Amino acid sequence: MPLFEYTCRTCGRPFEFLKISTTSEQVICPHCGGTEVTKLLSAGSFRVGGHGSSPAPAAPCGKRSGFS
Ligand SMILES: [Zn+2]
Repeated sequence: MPLFEYTCRTCGRPFEFLKISTTSEQVICPHCGGTEVTKLLSAGSFRVGGHGSSPAPAAPCGKRSGFS
């Protein structure tokens, strides 16, 4: 289930909010009722991503095209 972490920008307290659907629901701080929140990256869905993990194209040995 999509449980997202947010930090309230009004009171500055972190909280978790369960989003039922992917539509733009209004996230409300349970502490102060503020709607100015910042979404955090959940530790459960932590991933580095594909950037930087792909193998760099190695220079082909024996195939030099006039460089150097
Ligand atoms: Zn708040």
